[in-house]
Amino acid sequence: MKNICIHLLICGLVCLPLVSCNKQPALDKNNPFFLTYNTNFNVPPFEKIMAVHYMPAFNEGMIQGRKDIEKIVTAKKEPTFENTIAAYDKAGELLRNVSAVFFSQSTANTNDSLQKIEIEISPVLSAYNDEILLNPELFKKVKSVYDNQEKFNLKPDQKFILENLYKGFVRNGANLDQTDQDTLKAYNQKLSVLTVKFSQNVLAENNSYTLFLNKEDLKGLPESVVNAAAETAKNAGQDGKWAITTQRPSIFPFITYAENRSLRKQVYEAYANRGNNGNEFDNNKILAEIVKIRADRAKLLGYKTHSDIILEPRMAKTPENVLNLLDNLWKKAIPVAKNELAGMQKIAQKEGTRLKIEPSDWWYYAEKLRKEKYDLNDSELRPYFKLNNVRDGAFNVANKLFGITFTPLTALPRPHPEAEAFEVKEADGTHVGVLYMDFFPRESKQQGAWCGTYRSHSLVDGKEITPVVTTCFNFTKPSGSLPALLSVEEASTLYHEFGHALDALFNKSNYNQTYIAWDFVELPSQIMEHWATEPEVLNLYAKHYETGESIPAELVQKIKNSSYFNQGFETVEYLAASLLDIKFHTLTAPAVINVQPFEKEYLAGIGLIPEILPRYRSTYFLHIAGGYDSGYYSYIWAAVYDNDAFEAFKEKGLFDQTVAASFRKNILERNGTMDAMQMFLNFRGREASIDPLLKNRGLMQNNNSTN
Ligand SMILES: [Zn+2]
Repeated sequence: MKNICIHLLICGLVCLPLVSCNKQPALDKNNPFFLTYNTNFNVPPFEKIMAVHYMPAFNEGMIQGRKDIEKIVTAKKEPTFENTIAAYDKAGELLRNVSAVFFSQSTANTNDSLQKIEIEISPVLSAYNDEILLNPELFKKVKSVYDNQEKFNLKPDQKFILENLYKGFVRNGANLDQTDQDTLKAYNQKLSVLTVKFSQNVLAENNSYTLFLNKEDLKGLPESVVNAAAETAKNAGQDGKWAITTQRPSIFPFITYAENRSLRKQVYEAYANRGNNGNEFDNNKILAEIVKIRADRAKLLGYKTHSDIILEPRMAKTPENVLNLLDNLWKKAIPVAKNELAGMQKIAQKEGTRLKIEPSDWWYYAEKLRKEKYDLNDSELRPYFKLNNVRDGAFNVANKLFGITFTPLTALPRPHPEAEAFEVKEADGTHVGVLYMDFFPRESKQQGAWCGTYRSHSLVDGKEITPVVTTCFNFTKPSGSLPALLSVEEASTLYHEFGHALDALFNKSNYNQTYIAWDFVELPSQIMEHWATEPEVLNLYAKHYETGESIPAELVQKIKNSSYFNQGFETVEYLAASLLDIKFHTLTAPAVINVQPFEKEYLAGIGLIPEILPRYRSTYFLHIAGGYDSGYYSYIWAAVYDNDAFEAFKEKGLFDQTVAASFRKNILERNGTMDAMQMFLNFRGREASIDPLLKNRGLMQNNNSTN
């Protein structure tokens, strides 16, 4: 849970539009989307794709997609899996291609033109999707296949796709009458604009705040943080000064080390009030409207709340099941966080201050507590986590587990000049796929870390289409003569996204449609984090960037000891955000709220201590605007499963070939093509136990390691 990533989901299938004009302009022969890519491994020819190419490609993609759907709908033959479900799966190939490139680029490499296109295209695509999912003739065909499935002798993955597709239609209003469907379309269009605006506001707020520092303000900061601050000031046109922004790699080292308390408070409050400043980028009303429309939409669809719709196809199934798990963990975590707070308050007292710890103080005193209890500080560790060593370490782990190799592809077109490209191959040299890694922050990139696909695994006319996967990060940059030296948390984040990448690279789906349960999607990523900090693995990759020496055993032991450190806080801040998410989305219509008091009263009501803010407050909680609504809990849900799955390796050996092969075959290759619970049962042979999670986080009653 240390590493929360925004898992970028690029929809499998977007198809169909409102009006098709009869006169179509001739297609631009120079538009890369209308040509064969003609690149190695058929990756998108990034350097040839210009902003002007997107809209024509989107439009043509929708025209072609509409034709594909029309063909299915007007077919005279009895609907079968092949002529309906498989045909639907293939429909809209161009649109799928352009969407994959556009949405990856608009997240990692955006600019004013792309932002404009995003605003323009989002409601159009939403309408296009609605038109397919609300197409009564298409639904009739899908329903016919669903009702007659016994006739077709379907394979298990085909059955799984059919079931999910059919239920997806129903959740999207296929059973509504025309008037209600029109209302639904209007809701969806409004939401698509509001959620994009919400996320653009957060990006704007991040870019608008800079705190310039004087020399005396640098007290307490390690050299790497000072250098990064100098770099930030230089980029802001103030060479010779130092600056802090609300970007996570800038603010968090600062509030961890800066001795100047009022500056820590100032920058943290700027961070915690993004989207809540009453300016043109304020998200309060936007979020209230999003919540209201979602509740109205749920009612229209015959569901109690928005959460009920979202959770139906997930492992959790209902909001009650989610709340049960979150409440259980909340009860264990709050006392641990209070205990941590008491420890920090004691340090403040010892220092002779009378201050009462505030939210903006937590990182600073936590670091002191860590030093006091574990004699371990971040800057002592970073030299052993040079980015390239961490990356190669992750490659090495994958090689030892699965035999795969990673070969740099320096000449391959890349999504951004800073991105690295690798060919992933089996032990016998067979091509598996392409992996991009894009490590550093820039203004054109969203914050956080994520994994996405430019192309997923599928079969076309019996031929295997191999995946093209991208991972994006916002790591501490190299500065001056220092290479990029990561924190342990950043190293874990690399392993996390790498786990998502392996999931995408190993996937063996025959179809474009995959249905990955969102509360399972973090299992393949979170399980990789365990390898990142296992002593046996640290010895393989954590080498000093200057001397090349392996990390000393005592430091490894300290990392191990400190793995419980601050877990009360981290669990509480995460759970607070998760609970807030569920609270917003279990409101019944008419859901009229005032966001600030709503957030405050709810969090106080469940017993959140005032010294901790939720990991994301409402107005910059990108997950709940951007597709993780009612889904933020899923990281910890998956954590129950990843901790238990990793126990299987602990029991037999970290690189046990039988366990690794079973994990690949039963989980990584199948994800999205069979029921998630069944996959887990096939791998583990039993249901997951919650104990490994509690134990690993120091949340067991008899395992209170913060003392
Ligand atoms: Zn993730």
